[in-house]
Amino acid sequence: MKAELTEIMESIQGEGLLLGTSQVFLRFAGCNLKCIYCDTLASREPSRFCSLYCQTGSRDQMERITNPLSIEDICALVQRFSSSWISLTGGEPLLWAGFIAELMAVLKPGGYKFLLETNGTLEQELERCLPFIDMLSMDFKLPSATACDCWDLHQRFLLKARDKPCYVKIVITADTAYNEISTAAAIIKSVDKRIPLILQPVTPFNTCRAPGMDYLLELQKTVLQELQDVRIIPQIHPFMRLI
Ligand code: SF4
Repeated sequence: MKAELTEIMESIQGEGLLLGTSQVFLRFAGCNLKCIYCDTLASREPSRFCSLYCQTGSRDQMERITNPLSIEDICALVQRFSSSWISLTGGEPLLWAGFIAELMAVLKPGGYKFLLETNGTLEQELERCLPFIDMLSMDFKLPSATACDCWDLHQRFLLKARDKPCYVKIVITADTAYNEISTAAAIIKSVDKRIPLILQPVTPFNTCRAPGMDYLLELQKTVLQELQDVRIIPQIHPFMRLI
């Protein structure tokens, strides 16, 4: 069994509830969506090579590895780092669900913990991986960001994801409409109003503009009437100058 990855690195988690945790990141190639704020464009496509960053948090020392990689290849690479948390990210890692489930089964006895970072649209693929996952970071992808309607997919995905510690993250841009956030909140509430919701202001990118702070605070205040735990957390990598 083999998979294509675009990057392997060790750094700190820059988003969500595990912010600041030391992790090895396995970035898988390919995605089933096209978000306007995507900051991993190279990971949306098949890739002949995987970049292995040897120095924690830095792009200074890079080795180029030919894809595809086997489970044994990845186990050996992960053991070059000291983190016990592994982030499965992308792209959309669940496009490689069979490989990922097998990889986690092999690494789990070594004491590794797994964070799955997913766009929350591949429900059946999630089922295969769920037994091994320790934390699930699920994005809600808004129509204004993807030009698709993912609401039903997200609801079905979240109904399965709630069997594990999980949170929902929504990237907020200057163009995010209030009714998109209220729809997202209603879906989360219908599953479990205790599931944390993270409002993540976009890191400005090309034409993608960040929302105003007043708007974010207003969104948080409104959604807190429906959900118990709503947090505003920006990405921390850009101002820490980490990968
Ligand atoms: S789901 Fe993630 S990787 Fe895929 S296009 Fe959106 S931001 Fe990029």
